Amino acid sequence: MIKTSLDIASIRKDFPVLNRKVNGKPLVYLDNAATSQTPQQVIDVIVEYYHRYNANIHRGVHTLSQEATDAYEAARGKIQKHFNIAKPYEVILTSGTTHSINLVANGFSSFIKEGDEILVSAMEHHSNIVPWQMLCERTGGILKVIPMNQNGELIMEEYHKLLSEKTKLVFCNHVSNALGTINPIEEIIDAAHNVGAAVLIDGAQAAAHIKPDLQALDVDFYTVSAHKMCGPTGVGILYGKEELLKKLPPYQGGGEMIAEVTFEKTTYADLPHKFEAGTPNICGGIAFGAALDYMNSLGFENIAEYEDELMSYATRQLLTVEGLKIYGTAKNKTSVISFNIEGTHPYDIGSILDKLGIAVRTGHHCAQPIMDFYQIPGTVRASFSFYNTKKEVDVLVEGVKRARNMLL
Ligand SMILES: *Cc1c(COP(=O)(O)O)cnc(C)c1O
Repeated sequence: MIKTSLDIASIRKDFPVLNRKVNGKPLVYLDNAATSQTPQQVIDVIVEYYHRYNANIHRGVHTLSQEATDAYEAARGKIQKHFNIAKPYEVILTSGTTHSINLVANGFSSFIKEGDEILVSAMEHHSNIVPWQMLCERTGGILKVIPMNQNGELIMEEYHKLLSEKTKLVFCNHVSNALGTINPIEEIIDAAHNVGAAVLIDGAQAAAHIKPDLQALDVDFYTVSAHKMCGPTGVGILYGKEELLKKLPPYQGGGEMIAEVTFEKTTYADLPHKFEAGTPNICGGIAFGAALDYMNSLGFENIAEYEDELMSYATRQLLTVEGLKIYGTAKNKTSVISFNIEGTHPYDIGSILDKLGIAVRTGHHCAQPIMDFYQIPGTVRASFSFYNTKKEVDVLVEGVKRARNMLL
């Protein structure tokens, strides 16, 4: 048993899916870096929305529309408070991190000139590489990569060397979804600001484990996906500093985002509506607020402490398996263990684990450049949440041993 202030047994009862069986075995869900499970408290909020006040927001005079608008804006307020954001309209509700990044990359088209430089880290998710490549193709900007070492840590000396007055933008994830590395974003942000570059941090993987203070970080943009932190899919945020959001052009045109429309000219609505064209994921936004309430009721410090213990235990136990190698051994890491077993393919290990009821992810984890760096086709990735247990880690380790024996 891990010593913790969290009552894990009772927390597990909040997650109905954890009771189910897969292939006749109790589910061991270790794919939290892809998406987290949803507690009953959040499911209840979703059901209540459709039972009681489903309506379109910001435009109806009727009661249901006002109730839905109030709940949606209250959720924005919860998000603002959680991430310590100065103004509610600096919270742009999007469909998630991918949408948020594309919004910024698209908006920067008008600010990047030929020869300007954009830096991305070597351990980015595809959603944080492709939009910048597209931006560079449109503008003649140059994409440069901050390299990493064998442990899966960014080489900060190289980063400082890459920075110059040509650098306009720096993009980096807060936590790598493939390796679990926690990147030194304070240093990254400060150094970028020293040369006048803006910084976007992809917080999709971090926000389930770390409660970032966005004002203290002084970051320019930060993105989150609700589904990685106990919320539903299809909703997330783009945080942006007011002055930058005001400069960026709108991403999509449509209803909700305009002040006045004639066929000659349209003027745009104020923030945040300028970036929120069309009917949003209303229920999803409200449920995101409920997910933050749930996680805050447990306490992010408690969550981090427990998950760190669990990951150390899992690391020690997995390393007892013959031929097992872990990719991503950064000093500062969280909740993700990527590994391979010599002489086996990750897909085969993953398939056998699934027969045993154990859900892990296999493949390149939307981070192909990392796999190329290690010269491997992919990894098996076990990723942990606060509702996982040591006992489940033991089941995983037994399963991996069994898979190895079957394959070799
Ligand atoms: C999951 C993830 C994304 C993509 O998030 P979506 O919700 O699919 O848009 C981007 N970056 C990282 C680090 C992630 O873990």
